[in-house]
Amino acid sequence: MGPPSQPGSEARSVSDPAFMNVDVAIAGAGLGGLALALGLKERGITAHVFEAAPAPRTDGGTVIGFFPNGQTALNGVSPGLTDRIKARGNRCPSLTSIRLCDGVLEEELKRDNQSGIAMVPWKDFQEILASSIPPEQIHCNHRLQKFTPVEGGVEAVFDIIGDSDARENYSASSNAYGGAAIGQLTVRTKLLVGADGIRSNVRKAMGGKPPQYLGDLHWNLLVHDPDETMVPIKDESHMRFADEKAGIVGFLSDAGHKWRFLSVRKADPDGKIVAGYGPEFGGLGKPGVKERAIGALPGSDNWYDVVRETLRNVAESDIFERRIMDNVALDTWVAADGHVVLIGDAAHAMHPIVGQGAMQTFEDAHQLAELLKKEAGPDFSTDGVATAVHRFEKVKKRRAELVQAFSREASSLPKEVTVPAEYQDLSGPEKLQRFSQLNTWMQRYPDVLGGDPDSVYWKPLES
Ligand SMILES: Cc1cc2nc3c(=O)[nH]c(=O)nc-3n(C[C@H](O)[C@H](O)[C@H](O)COP(=O)(O)OP(=O)(O)OC[C@H]3O[C@@H](n4cnc5c(N)ncnc54)[C@H](O)[C@@H]3O)c2cc1C
Repeated sequence: MGPPSQPGSEARSVSDPAFMNVDVAIAGAGLGGLALALGLKERGITAHVFEAAPAPRTDGGTVIGFFPNGQTALNGVSPGLTDRIKARGNRCPSLTSIRLCDGVLEEELKRDNQSGIAMVPWKDFQEILASSIPPEQIHCNHRLQKFTPVEGGVEAVFDIIGDSDARENYSASSNAYGGAAIGQLTVRTKLLVGADGIRSNVRKAMGGKPPQYLGDLHWNLLVHDPDETMVPIKDESHMRFADEKAGIVGFLSDAGHKWRFLSVRKADPDGKIVAGYGPEFGGLGKPGVKERAIGALPGSDNWYDVVRETLRNVAESDIFERRIMDNVALDTWVAADGHVVLIGDAAHAMHPIVGQGAMQTFEDAHQLAELLKKEAGPDFSTDGVATAVHRFEKVKKRRAELVQAFSREASSLPKEVTVPAEYQDLSGPEKLQRFSQLNTWMQRYPDVLGGDPDSVYWKPLES
């Protein structure tokens, strides 16, 4: 997918900007931007996606826990999509939970996977989504710079960055492509969607502050292991391990088709494990990463041997290390009178512990596509677009931000800061009930988006 093929959109000098006129411009070809473009295509609306990277990204070495709400949302985006994606991963017939105390096994529970969660490599979501959109609608090497409201829409300005410059200046930690602009493209649109991730430029232009560090360091790797020599786990297995004393939570999982996944999160509130790096630290194959990850595991000759062995067997360049960040909630996701809206991580980047970041993003894409189809009508009216956008914010903002805030509670930030005062003294069973009711609410998607009236903790607001 190369530069735009639209007339007048080829790279020119900054002083002679090129123009495009489109109904919908989406900044970011990540999970949210691609899912939305596909959802709109299915509804007869053409969206153009502008991505800062030289191609829709497939790096990052991670796996997505594909929960039922995300599965329902993606089937709503495009019928049959969910099964195509699930076929790429592990349908997890059973799930194993392991409780450790400083590396010593305390409890191992295996249960049937009744919820239907699947583990699918993130790259497969990206590949399937990107290949479902006409290539001429995906414009790579286009980095959103700014937008200006105009009558009935906005004008968005994209820097066009050269391939090699973009690659050289890519920062995996900040998910951003630097590099000098070799030209600019101005896009006039009825709707600009900020799907440009945790460090969104659209969000920044709306007054969003930079992401905050949540006090957890994270290592993950995804390797192809056809001969089963690197990662000592079996096909179709999926295990979660948690060690409160050591401040560790992780997953060891088959990711389908002999891909194997390991993730380890270690509490690192002072950022000491990788001291010397800035808060945005992260990336693939950072020098010394193997040693750091192994060194973070307590003791020797204990349950963590399987993790240590995996880390030793893989190449350092396969290990992705990052500080876990999220964004503080904004007052609104909408700007320019309903002609700019945020979705996905740009709106609600969250700690990965509850596994809802991408799921909320898929819900966003589904809901926004549906509302645009319904409100903007066949002529894609500008007033209808604004109505759809405001309705979208109404149905999704509170829901996504409640999950975001709950996910933050599991971070290493002080509990006095993250846990609402009324829940700070909950007993163990009450805490579990609160989590399980959140999960039930999420999985009821697309019903009761505003809150689950049957729950104690996640009720809708009284109108
Ligand atoms: C370690 C880890 C594990 C996770 N595990 C899970 C999980 O199990 N389940 C789950 O639901 N979620 C999970 N997530 C979260 C999930 O990956 C994100 O929520 C999801 O990718 C958000 O999609 P997005 O499209 O909003 O952003 P992204 O996927 O980040 O896409 C943003 C895109 O915008 C591009 N871009 C950036 N700036 C610009 C610009 N100025 N102009 C144009 N393009 C730009 C980027 O290059 C990128 O392609 C995890 C996240 C992490 C970090």
